[in-house]
Amino acid sequence: MKKHLLCATLSLASVGLCTHVMARNDHTSSWSYSADTGPQHWGELKSDYTLCSTGLTQSPIDIGDAVKADLSPLTFSYRASSATVLNNGHTIQVSPVDAGGITLATGDYSLVQLHFHTPSEEKIQGRTYPLNVHFVHRNAAGELAVVALLFEEGAYNPALEPILAIMPKEAGGMTKLSVQNIADLLPATRHYFSYMGSLTTPPCSEGVRWHVLTQPVQLSKDQLQAFQALYPMNARPVQPLNGRTVQVGG
Ligand SMILES: [Zn+2]
Repeated sequence: MKKHLLCATLSLASVGLCTHVMARNDHTSSWSYSADTGPQHWGELKSDYTLCSTGLTQSPIDIGDAVKADLSPLTFSYRASSATVLNNGHTIQVSPVDAGGITLATGDYSLVQLHFHTPSEEKIQGRTYPLNVHFVHRNAAGELAVVALLFEEGAYNPALEPILAIMPKEAGGMTKLSVQNIADLLPATRHYFSYMGSLTTPPCSEGVRWHVLTQPVQLSKDQLQAFQALYPMNARPVQPLNGRTVQVGG
């Protein structure tokens, strides 16, 4: 709405510029991580995005005191698959063709895509990590379950390199990842924090089952900088818990 008003008030001489700006925004969509289209304004940008400001179970969160619980193990059945790697204007998104999924107490969920945020969206006891990956899964009913994995700076990560090596530099760019097992990215320990939340990008839909792995993995400084060269900051700030409990176990 705001954008249309702005365009309407521009002089005829500026119409070309206006069209160009709108086309670019349409390509990368209407929201961003800063200024007028940043996280504080997502809820006002489109009626579909209202939950971003009114939702009471939003993500990400700062995981403080989690309650120990008898959570069912997080069972991964990832298998080797080819994938597309898309620079979607907000992050690098990897979409496997057929990479298996996870099994929760609520059933089976297929891996739909994984993508990255820097710094990490999740905080643990107030601590932010330099990078995280979100593995997004969906079940037959269309319900979402996300697994979040945190990265700390340290050793070179060979499992991450095939993605970093071919990620498109320009928004809208897409490349093909040859067969790789996404499971190679996972840590040995699969303990996790569990809570109910939302998508961390518009439309901020709720009812998302979150599983944040307690064990981070490492990546080198060069690898981190390679991602940050494309996206220096693409993390939504942490959201209020509003009485939600975080459980830990698995
Ligand atoms: Zn994410």
